Amino acid sequence: MTIKLYEENAYIKEFEAEILSCEECKNGFLLTLDKTAFFPEGGGQQADTGFINDAKVLDVQEKDGIITHKVDKAFTVGETVTGKLDWNTRFSRMQGHTGEHLVSGIIHSMFGYDNLGFHMSEKTMTLDPSGILTDEDIKEIERKANMAVYENRDVTAYYPDPKTLSTLEYRSKLDLVEGVRLVNIDSYDTCACCAPHVSKTGEIGLIKIIDYIQYKGGMRLTMVCGINAFEDYSKLHDDNKELMHLLSASRDKVSEFVVRDHEVIGSQKAEINRLNAELSIANLDIKEVGTTLLGFTKGASFDDMRNLVNENLEKGELVAFFSEGENDTFSYIISSSTLDVRDTVKALNEQFSGKGGGRPNYAQGKITGFKNDIISFFE
Ligand SMILES: [Zn+2]
Repeated sequence: MTIKLYEENAYIKEFEAEILSCEECKNGFLLTLDKTAFFPEGGGQQADTGFINDAKVLDVQEKDGIITHKVDKAFTVGETVTGKLDWNTRFSRMQGHTGEHLVSGIIHSMFGYDNLGFHMSEKTMTLDPSGILTDEDIKEIERKANMAVYENRDVTAYYPDPKTLSTLEYRSKLDLVEGVRLVNIDSYDTCACCAPHVSKTGEIGLIKIIDYIQYKGGMRLTMVCGINAFEDYSKLHDDNKELMHLLSASRDKVSEFVVRDHEVIGSQKAEINRLNAELSIANLDIKEVGTTLLGFTKGASFDDMRNLVNENLEKGELVAFFSEGENDTFSYIISSSTLDVRDTVKALNEQFSGKGGGRPNYAQGKITGFKNDIISFFE
């Protein structure tokens, strides 16, 4: 069994240990030590990283009480080595993990929901409470969690004996009776967990739920804590500053100004569409080829063209309208109240490398070619 220094003290950043074994593996070497402060992957938390002497620690895993460190250099058995953790990463995970216990504990006591899933990524975490939470619920959970941070409660971890354990109430995903490590947040939560946590809730720092969705009958919350919450805040602050500058808005008026501009853009778009429709009518060049009515315009949308075709539908047996776009392309609508237009459309697409189709008496699409050639096609 490897002695777990991280369980005795989660704040050990550097330690000395003896190499018990070293085996070559794919892309590295597997080391076991008599003791370690490197936390192996578990409880939803990733394995610690850092160095053993000058060898990089790539992965840490535990099996049957033995902790194996994957490193990029070989060692001699019996050698005394120094392990150094990547402390910033580990501490940020301790903040996040303890924050997750606190929030899950608060949700459990307020609503009776369990946390069915916990995932930690580099900057954010997700937790999956088993029931539905409203916007107001989320706000209240967040407020309570941050109050618990200000109260600076003790966080302790211990292995109760099976008899004591059976009398305790705690959150757990597994029904173990032996070797259960309980993590207690004074007055807020008791949960079975193997990972290192901070020792006071004050060290968690800011807790912020940045997103939430309904998920598998419950919820999925995305959360940031501590250093990651601070960085998230800084990023949002920088973004806000840029928008303030662009909009000439004061700090608290940014969203109001964006809404205002959004409405202005919406009405301007509607005006552009109206003018475009007017322009397409003004530019309309109508030609009669036998019983076919051909119409040519520029820059019209399909909606504008549809209106033009409908207005002129009775003026020809077949009505084919084209709107010129960029690079010799034409959008088309071909319609008839008496004929099946599909063969004509097929032939048109073939001759002008086009795409499109529709119903027997209506088709729309796009072709590439010249106006004169299109006229010749219908002649
Ligand atoms: Zn934990």
